[in-house]
Amino acid sequence: MRFNRLKLNGFKSFVDPTDLVIADGLTGVVGPNGCGKSNLLEALRWVMGENRAKAMRGAGMEDVIFAGTSGRGARNFAEVIIQIDNSERLAPSGFNDSDILEIVRRITRDAGSAYKVNGKDVRARDVQMLFADASTGAHSPALVRQGQIAELINAKPKNRRRILEEAAGISGLYQRRHEAELKLRATETNLERVDDVIEQLA
Ligand code: ATP
Repeated sequence: MRFNRLKLNGFKSFVDPTDLVIADGLTGVVGPNGCGKSNLLEALRWVMGENRAKAMRGAGMEDVIFAGTSGRGARNFAEVIIQIDNSERLAPSGFNDSDILEIVRRITRDAGSAYKVNGKDVRARDVQMLFADASTGAHSPALVRQGQIAELINAKPKNRRRILEEAAGISGLYQRRHEAELKLRATETNLERVDDVIEQLA
């Protein structure tokens, strides 16, 4: 999965529409402190389905929307678009019918986030699974934030296992197992309720 382009509009300090071409090879982003380098990495994580505001260095998810400055008013929405080269058709089935995948996440104040893949409305889960199946995503160890190396060195074995699972390309399965366990638990609860009803009728 190769990222081609990252577009931001109203996301954190990127108030104006910004279009970044990610060319072949190594891409470096340089700039003075506070110019928005980390915001770019966060935009990437966010469009892949990050749902923890804390991971975006905010108190709530709406904090990713441009909050205004002395010279400019706050924005009402933020949007991030990631374009992926899918010419080798490596995307998971269901998303594999075009050479380019365009994933859009947009958050509007008081209305939450909405996602689209190639113009079609999808759920957050669909986008998260798309990236998890491609062994990447918002929690990918390939995205290294400040202070994370020290965290990894001190990580508990369980957390290290997650990293190995992702390297092995099974994090999508891990997420599906978690969902299956939740469904199983809900079904067990329903069965207990059915037993209660049967007991009352007997
Ligand atoms: P450093 O080199 O110090 O790590 P950086 O280039 O990584 O800095 P960021 O941390 O990405 O910079 O950007 C911080 C800037 O983004 C700050 O100026 C902050 O005010 C601005 N910023 C963050 N969230 C918002 C927001 N919602 N609206 C407007 N500006 C924001």
